[in-house]
Amino acid sequence: MTARAGRASPELERQLVSSPDNTPSVQGDREMQQGIMELMWRTSHMSGGNAHYVEALYEQYLVDPNAVPDEWRNYFDRLPRPEGSASYDVPLGPIREQFYQLGQNQRTTHAAAPVDNEESRKQVRVLQLINAYRFRGHQKADIDPLNLRSQNPVPDLDLSFHQLSKADLDTEFQTGSLFLGKDKAPLKEIVEALEHTYCRSIGCEFMHIVNTDEKRWLQQRFESVRSKPKFSDEVRKHLLERLTAAEGLESYLASKYPGTKRFGLEGGETFIPMMDELIQRSGGYGTKEVVIGMAHRGRLNLLVNILGKSPSELIEEFDGKKVIEQGSGDVKYHQGFSSNVMTPGGEVHLALAFNPSHLEIVSPVVEGSVRARQDRREDADGTLVLPINVHGDAAFAGQGVVMETFQMSQTRAYRTGGTVHIIINNQVGFTTSHPQDTRSTEYCTDIAKMVQAPIFHVNGDDPDAILHATQVALDYRQQFQKDVVIDLVCYRRRGHNEADEPSGTQPMMYQKIKDHPSSRALYAKRLAEDGVLSEDDTKALIDQYREDLMAGNHVANALVKEPNKSLFVDWTPYLGHEWTGNADTTVDMKRMQQLATRMCEIPDGVQTQRQVAKIYEDRRKMLAGGMAVNWGFAETLAYATLLDEGHPIRLTGQDSGRGTFSHRHAVVHNQKDGSTYVPLEHIRDGQPRFTIHDSFLSEEAVLAFEYGYATTVPNALIIWEAQFGDFFNGAQVVVDQFISSGETKWGRLCGLTMLLPHGYEGQGPEHSSARLERFLQLCAEHNMQVCVPTTPAQIFHLLRRQVIRPLRKPLVVMSPKSLLRHKEATSNLDELANGRFQMVLPDQGKLDPETVRRVILCSGKVYYDLTTYRTDNERDDTAIVRIEQLYPFPKEELFETLKAYANIEQVVWCQEEPLNQGAWYQSQHHMRMVADMLHEGLGQELKFAGRPASAAPAAGYMSVHVEQQRQLVNDAFNA
Ligand code: AMP
Repeated sequence: MTARAGRASPELERQLVSSPDNTPSVQGDREMQQGIMELMWRTSHMSGGNAHYVEALYEQYLVDPNAVPDEWRNYFDRLPRPEGSASYDVPLGPIREQFYQLGQNQRTTHAAAPVDNEESRKQVRVLQLINAYRFRGHQKADIDPLNLRSQNPVPDLDLSFHQLSKADLDTEFQTGSLFLGKDKAPLKEIVEALEHTYCRSIGCEFMHIVNTDEKRWLQQRFESVRSKPKFSDEVRKHLLERLTAAEGLESYLASKYPGTKRFGLEGGETFIPMMDELIQRSGGYGTKEVVIGMAHRGRLNLLVNILGKSPSELIEEFDGKKVIEQGSGDVKYHQGFSSNVMTPGGEVHLALAFNPSHLEIVSPVVEGSVRARQDRREDADGTLVLPINVHGDAAFAGQGVVMETFQMSQTRAYRTGGTVHIIINNQVGFTTSHPQDTRSTEYCTDIAKMVQAPIFHVNGDDPDAILHATQVALDYRQQFQKDVVIDLVCYRRRGHNEADEPSGTQPMMYQKIKDHPSSRALYAKRLAEDGVLSEDDTKALIDQYREDLMAGNHVANALVKEPNKSLFVDWTPYLGHEWTGNADTTVDMKRMQQLATRMCEIPDGVQTQRQVAKIYEDRRKMLAGGMAVNWGFAETLAYATLLDEGHPIRLTGQDSGRGTFSHRHAVVHNQKDGSTYVPLEHIRDGQPRFTIHDSFLSEEAVLAFEYGYATTVPNALIIWEAQFGDFFNGAQVVVDQFISSGETKWGRLCGLTMLLPHGYEGQGPEHSSARLERFLQLCAEHNMQVCVPTTPAQIFHLLRRQVIRPLRKPLVVMSPKSLLRHKEATSNLDELANGRFQMVLPDQGKLDPETVRRVILCSGKVYYDLTTYRTDNERDDTAIVRIEQLYPFPKEELFETLKAYANIEQVVWCQEEPLNQGAWYQSQHHMRMVADMLHEGLGQELKFAGRPASAAPAAGYMSVHVEQQRQLVNDAFNA
């Protein structure tokens, strides 16, 4: 193909290439052609020859993109490709035809009357107008029931902006890609369709999506029905019935318990029909489980009207009766719930997650729970388990974890096949509602655009529109496995809670609300006007609901009374166990060696990097008994044995595949092609799932996700590993609100393990401490385990104990850094096969117990510094005892250990952490008690050896670190 004669003027090339307006933003072949044509027309001096020139260039570009000048290539690159065209050699006849026509037109233009040209120009402008509605129609949409939203004029939606006028309204134009059901229509009809589709009760945002298929799919769903499908009378009656239920519950509670906090749904009642539809429709898709996360507002309503919580149970809670036998319990608007409902596709299990007052943090917990269920069902694309996260507008716009949760939505480790997000947008956050205070973004939902989620803003007073948006949202999620957002724009009839008087802070809003009829009343009126229901019918619905409530009947109409239990996990084997630190974690030596062999095998085709090859080579030596067992070997072998015994394992963290300190290398990267090989996935045929992922750089959402996962899968070992231990405090809310207190508040067991690298090695304030004191301060009622293992055999048995015991308690491990390679911190195969986790490690030296006058108690790496000092200084009068489990504190084991030393005069607690940190303040009373059991008064004499109190966890200078370390070890022996 040869370029034809003629060259575009430099000015033309400059305009075409440089102006962003020149890049057609429209999608599809036709729009692309029109975009190009428009560019031509805008350059009025352009001749037919120029058009030929561009056409020829384009043809050339199609054959060989490098054959055209850079700027032109850049321009053509940005043109959308015709559907299905991955390569350049597809026939692009229509485009060439378009160029040809253009050339013809241009020639004619020069020769003939200008009217044709003007028509064509207008045609392009009409297409631009259509596009403008798709982009910005939502800004003009009628989505606020209170009509308080400040709406600036949207010039792009005016005819005049596109150089069109009322005089053109009767002229017929091509409808382009507008789903109007015909190729041509008068402008009037086109504008009307656009106004109905994009500027009524639904404001759609989807033009930020780059995937053409998705965008076209969404356009079709809204445009083809003008965002208002015709629903049958039956469907609309059902909507009213659910709205009546939503309103009925709130008004019942308001009259029975005036002024009692319940975070009522009044003003956002359409949320209930929306949830009803989501669940019923997802059942139709074959979904088996739906997991829901939401904050307070509307929770009681959801519990009763959708999940089928018994109204009498709720009433008991209002009456202040204790409903759980053990633990602190929690307020009613934090409660989770589980039930089964019937849908067109069969029974669906519903789980509403328990959650704290900390808004938004429940969302990643829900995602984790969903992923666990999907993994259990081998549901890779997420069709069988659906996450629904319900948010408040202020929190959705304000909290960082929202961003983190979106960020995880398409990653390998955390994706769940798309989440349906619902914002109950009552346009005020507690008492904050001024647009200049609540956010800097236009909508509270703008963050969702980061993952190109479509967003539907819907007027909460239009149940028909809400039904449509809900259906499109779910269908989109099922079709594309991506997140989608419904912004239910509503209001809050009362204050933040029922004890608040909102007009003190929001006077204008509440003047409006006072006179605003409820969504139910408005819809009932509309149905009456449409002849669907009479006023009497509507009243009968209200009376029936009230009667059911008063009778204590279930009011969720799809509730299954005898639920199919196979839809969810049976937790009974894990319930009701008293605390024990003991478990038989031994392994048959022969089997263990077989597993270790498998664990060290790397197929021939996998070319291993030199240091990694050495690690595997060393592991083979450890297996053969030619080398002492190190941490990496023992830890990995613990996983292999657990997998062999049928326990799935999931390990995630910022560098988990390799390990922050390169000790694990559980994922081997092939140096030839970058592919990966994970030996632990090949332990035996039919083994359970072994999942290991490097996480994205989040702590908060990731830890919450793993908490959600671990509270859903009882038989698995679930581990989150911090890059450095102190980074967990980026997820402090997860530790405080879920890990440490979930069991006592909600009776939810959790066997999550946290590996937190900890140890004072001179790396400065931020990489030394995993803030042990924070965990110990949260410990009570046997809520979790805090351990500091110091040998490979100890981590081997600790990890095994965590799964083998039926007890499910969170395990916090202060895991080592330098100990990973310490020559003394080794074990042997026999200790692995036949040992157990020792909560207290007695002195390992060959001391005569009679001569021991001093016992140093310690945890962690400092033990090795202490033994070095003792050897160097021949201090045979001092025993060194390691407390490897700091909580639950092993009093009996410590007592049994110390009993051997009848002549103790001094007990010292030695820690690397400063006085105000580490275990000292939280654990000293346990140590004193044990010392007193040995000799009355000995406990009072317990001494501290450690760093002086400090605001920072550690010094930033190596010299200071070394001196402090020397001093504290010296103090332990001599203080
Ligand atoms: P779910 O699938 O989350 O709705 O849970 C179903 C049932 O399993 C619940 O009603 C509880 O009885 C039980 N269950 C679920 N998770 C836990 C947990 N983490 N601890 C104790 N019991 C649980």
